[in-house]
Amino acid sequence: MVIYLDNAATTKVCDEAVSAIMGCLQENYGNPSSLHGMGIEAEKIIDNTRKIIGMALACEPECIYFTSGATESNNLAIFGTVGAYGKRKRKIVTTSIEHPSVSECMNKLEENGFDIVRVSPNSMGEFAVEDFINAVDENTCLVSAMLVNNENGYILPIGEIFKAIKRKNPDIITHCDGVQGFMKIPMKVKELNADLISISGHKVHSAKGVGAIYKKRGIRLEPTCFGGGQEKGVRSGTESVPLIAGLGASVEQLAKTIDFRLERAKELQEYFLEKLKKLDDVIINIDNNNMPYIINVSIKGIRSEIMLHFLEEKGIYVSSGSACSKGAKSSVLREFGIKDEIIDSSIRISSSYENTIKEMEMLIDAIVEAKQRFKFN
Ligand code: PLP
Repeated sequence: MVIYLDNAATTKVCDEAVSAIMGCLQENYGNPSSLHGMGIEAEKIIDNTRKIIGMALACEPECIYFTSGATESNNLAIFGTVGAYGKRKRKIVTTSIEHPSVSECMNKLEENGFDIVRVSPNSMGEFAVEDFINAVDENTCLVSAMLVNNENGYILPIGEIFKAIKRKNPDIITHCDGVQGFMKIPMKVKELNADLISISGHKVHSAKGVGAIYKKRGIRLEPTCFGGGQEKGVRSGTESVPLIAGLGASVEQLAKTIDFRLERAKELQEYFLEKLKKLDDVIINIDNNNMPYIINVSIKGIRSEIMLHFLEEKGIYVSSGSACSKGAKSSVLREFGIKDEIIDSSIRISSSYENTIKEMEMLIDAIVEAKQRFKFN
């Protein structure tokens, strides 16, 4: 038995995506840049996914460019903007809770002399629009902020933040790492007021190794990868037609059920938290303004790794609540004012449409058992 509750890390590839991928591997294997029929067929497959993603984000398909995943999309958004607009404007505003695929780009730019301002949550544990407005000035070329945090599911008011930024200075480029929100909560280009948006395939039941970037018409990005000029020169390299086909197939499916799935995720979250709150020594790490697909909790006195492996023995897969990569600690929870000993025992439970109330019940039972077993540790 497998109870997979680590969907913020990656998701199971859906059947529709598997058959789309297999179809390309076995039949439509032409190079989309080839001028013959097989190339044209491959190009059609790519353009079909472009349309599907365009529809999901409510933008023109021509604004979608395919990449190898959100890490590449984020790097392209940040270094591409800096390349195009950052010669004289040497300031960037971001948040203190970004995924490493954004924060490490910022660290690199800081080493190279850029002024990086990292906005933190305020004393209420929230991101205030004013803090972003106050941080930007005439030297700012980019504001980059995520829509949903991958560790605790916190939803930032990106639409309002970017609107206020544009009102203060329309020349500033706005980039949103939309990975954890895409196909889970409403995420439309216009509402976000974003010039650039990154998304990833493997978080939405497609394969690993594919992603996309939305780029508003007229926004320039200096390429980070030079070569054959694919994707209108924004991202050279032969497109991964099979993975792009899979991405189209999964997004097309998910688009039909976004509201229904969100309601179900809420039901799972509410059920789990209601049961959990009845136990002693449990802490819910942020339950204001968070996306129900991601729940971050600490069971006091039981370290994350111990709990994670205990649950794994029962076939339940979750993440350590503060791990960014292979257990390395990230500082996101600390940014929300959570104490180290609580962070050390945090676990992240992230659901998908495949999870059930019964599975949440089994998770609660397993936590109760763990509390008894590890009580005095
Ligand atoms: N941004 C966020 C918020 C993420 O959660 C992730 C993956 O965990 C990424 C970016 C990177 O995505 P990818 O694995 O497609 O490179």
